[in-house]
Amino acid sequence: MDVANKILILVRTTPLADVKKPTQGLSLFYTDLDRSIVKVTEIPKMGRCAVDSNVVFFEDWKVPREDLIGQEGDGFKMIMHGMNAERVLVGAEALGIGYAALRRASVYAKERVVFGRPIGQNQGIQHPLAECWMNLEGARLMIYLAGRLYDEGYMDGEYANAGKFMAAEAAFKAAERAVMTLGGMGYAKEYHVERYLREATLARIAPISAELIKCYIGQRVLGLPKSY
Ligand SMILES: Cc1cc2nc3c(=O)[nH]c(=O)nc-3n(C[C@H](O)[C@H](O)[C@H](O)COP(=O)(O)OP(=O)(O)OC[C@H]3O[C@@H](n4cnc5c(N)ncnc54)[C@H](O)[C@@H]3O)c2cc1C
Repeated sequence: MDVANKILILVRTTPLADVKKPTQGLSLFYTDLDRSIVKVTEIPKMGRCAVDSNVVFFEDWKVPREDLIGQEGDGFKMIMHGMNAERVLVGAEALGIGYAALRRASVYAKERVVFGRPIGQNQGIQHPLAECWMNLEGARLMIYLAGRLYDEGYMDGEYANAGKFMAAEAAFKAAERAVMTLGGMGYAKEYHVERYLREATLARIAPISAELIKCYIGQRVLGLPKSY
């Protein structure tokens, strides 16, 4: 956003009072980012530094009608179309972080000798790493399933959400286990696993949090009353 001259915005074009559901009456625009009106301020954050995140302030910003994408009022529907794909993508990204963490932990556990033997020879080190591998592999299958269903045009979100949830949790556990396996060195930036732990945290929060995924599954899959 530091260098962008275009912005995609979802804005309310029909007042809430005039629609049946809050998701109606929203429109999507791809327009010039007019920095004389829009104030963009970067948010310093614990990870994902390759992509900046920003607070965006604007008031009385007039956007040309020809910058509207699709039909007026259909913006949320169009955003929804990309949501399952984004969950699969973020889940796959989390898996990559998890496997990278597990690889570093396994290499270190083979090399680091304490009390006369590699720490990886102890089941207290080995078993949690084996568990991490099983969690990651299970999540990988769910992500593949969700990706295949998306390619086939399946629009419901349970598998994309479940895949993202499982992958994020598995990646976070693997990264945390990697830090613990490396001990004091795990806390040092030099070995990268502290970075994996910070990066894996994001997948648990965005684009949808672990809690809200459970709300979705509870309501849409199990038929329980809406809880939020
Ligand atoms: C680095 C980064 C990049 C992002 N990029 C984008 C982006 O490009 N586009 C975009 O639209 N958004 C983006 N987001 C926003 C992201 O999708 C939200 O932060 C995320 O969905 C969580 O929403 P929230 O922050 O509003 O949390 P809140 O809704 O304020 O919730 C806070 C906490 O309470 C929990 N909670 C809330 N309600 C309930 C409930 N009923 N039951 C149980 N727990 C509950 C949540 O799970 C969460 O843990 C980004 C966020 C980050 C951190």
